[in-house]
Amino acid sequence: MPAWFGSDRAARLPPDWPRRRARVLRRDPICQVCQLAPATEVDHINPGDDHSDANLQGICGPCHATKSGREGGRAAASRRPSARRPADPHPGLIER
Ligand SMILES: [Zn+2]
Repeated sequence: MPAWFGSDRAARLPPDWPRRRARVLRRDPICQVCQLAPATEVDHINPGDDHSDANLQGICGPCHATKSGREGGRAAASRRPSARRPADPHPGLIER
């Protein structure tokens, strides 16, 4: 189980999560955050209990780690820009 997979989060995932996850990775083969790396994980766009496909996106490991870290606090989440900025360098490679 990946390190980001907290116990609280694991308890909330639906029983058919593996199927949903596979479906999202087929739909989003490239990381939807950096648009560079292959997506290897599935991220909740809006953190919480919405596990619908519309709230899920394929994401690479470094981007997921960065995003999950930011979601640790509400203050950090509110600072996050809402618009995607695909021209940015890979967020896993720079300090923010
Ligand atoms: Zn990425």
